[in-house]
Amino acid sequence: MKDIQLYINGAFVPAQNQAMFDNLNPYTEQRINQVASGGKKDIQAACAAAEAAFKDGPWGHMKLKDRMSYIEKIADLIDDAVDEIAVMESHDTGLPISQTRKMVARAAENFRFYSRMVQTHLHGDAYQVDDTFINYTVYQPLGPVGLITPWNAPFMLTTWKVAPALASGNTVVLKPAELSPLSANKLAEIIDAAGVPNGVFNVVHGYGETAGAALVQNTKVKAISFTGETVTGKTIIRNSADSLKKTSMELGGKSPIIVFDDADFDRALDAAVWGIFSFNGERCTANSRLFIHSAIKEPFIKALKHRVDQVKMGDPMDDSTELGPLIDHGHFSKVSGYIDKAEIEGCEVYQGALPSGISKGHFVPPTLLLNARNDMQASQEEIFGPVMSVIEFSSEEEAIQLANEIEYGLAGYVWTNDIKRGHRVAQAVDAGMLWVNAQNVRDLRIPFGGMKSSGIGREGGHHALLEFYTEPKAIHVSIADHPIPQFGKAY
Ligand code: NAD
Repeated sequence: MKDIQLYINGAFVPAQNQAMFDNLNPYTEQRINQVASGGKKDIQAACAAAEAAFKDGPWGHMKLKDRMSYIEKIADLIDDAVDEIAVMESHDTGLPISQTRKMVARAAENFRFYSRMVQTHLHGDAYQVDDTFINYTVYQPLGPVGLITPWNAPFMLTTWKVAPALASGNTVVLKPAELSPLSANKLAEIIDAAGVPNGVFNVVHGYGETAGAALVQNTKVKAISFTGETVTGKTIIRNSADSLKKTSMELGGKSPIIVFDDADFDRALDAAVWGIFSFNGERCTANSRLFIHSAIKEPFIKALKHRVDQVKMGDPMDDSTELGPLIDHGHFSKVSGYIDKAEIEGCEVYQGALPSGISKGHFVPPTLLLNARNDMQASQEEIFGPVMSVIEFSSEEEAIQLANEIEYGLAGYVWTNDIKRGHRVAQAVDAGMLWVNAQNVRDLRIPFGGMKSSGIGREGGHHALLEFYTEPKAIHVSIADHPIPQFGKAY
């Protein structure tokens, strides 16, 4: 595959210092291509282009209908390229092709959704004050915004940010994750082909500590939308303080799935297995802590083991593969280290068997940490791999307490056929998003995000538009000769 460049002011360009980094395929461990490694100067050029496009270009002043026609054109071009992007994404991330195809198809919908959302929800309110004032709000785009994305599910996550940012009239500098940069360039090609004016959308590849940090500190950039690890989020908040930027933080998770003894056993089992082993376990909302009621613990674990034995590992490009390799060797070592530590701490480690013939790729088989305790490191820290702690509980109160005894609060899943208990537990678990009797099914309208160390702010729906990508401005208009205090007037 050909090497990829930065995309700045409508042109594909090398990094100013000509630096490149290798992009590896997690399955073959071979180099896919080289990627231009942007630094501070490239970020400065991209931010200057984004500022000029916002202030002087047509984007900020365009009629809504015209801007939305670009947004919808981008969606159409993504539709045309779903298969190509899905293949690219699987090569880049190791995610199974059957899963990347579905994710990429959803990316087009992100643009269509935000085209509709902007037209129906991006409006202010009017506040009549008796017969003296009519006050109203308008929501205006911020200007150039910085988007920083992680390596898991890159195309879907990137479009989830780019669509609302552009649809609401901002210009964008995107810093994609260095471990999965390919689809960000494809998005640049699509946006370029859609005829979006130069400078409206820019991509600067590079490392977090250089390109990412320079974007966070750039004074032309008005806001940073970040998805990634909690520790990185904290660094970004610190580094954005000097330029007083708005930040949106979509961070890590360690989400509970609570299965009561009256739950629909088979559906809860399907959901638990899918929720931890799909996306190679590299999913922020993965149910990595299973709380199982003592009355059904034995049959549930027996069924879980049976399913673990059958998860199909292999070539991500094979349509029947369910679990591919982890993103890179460093991540493989991290995930493996947690499993080893859990075993030393007394867990029974139950894993699927890697098929013979697989000699490459950073595979971690589907893993259950049986007899786990909630206070173990493997149950408290985000492993971000196909590894689930299995913990017994015997009462509703205990389940809630265990679920909440954790730093994170992104998602949670409750399985019970007692509808009152379902609501009760969902409302008691500290998490931004809860599902009752369901796996993680996305609704683009909901506020997406976490509490505690899982994030600050919400993306999704009209929340992304009104709470993050625009600034409300209040305009007060006197419609009568209302009293004005008489200062400095001679009596
Ligand atoms: P990461 O924090 O290592 O990197 C994310 C991005 O931040 C990358 O583009 C990286 O280059 C950049 N970065 C790193 N250091 C930086 C710095 N100092 N300044 C600016 N940018 C910097 O995360 P990752 O390993 O790529 O992704 C996995 C993490 O993302 C997991 O914790 C996962 O839970 C989280 N995640 C959260 C959500 C959510 O919606 N809450 C969704 C997906 C992934």
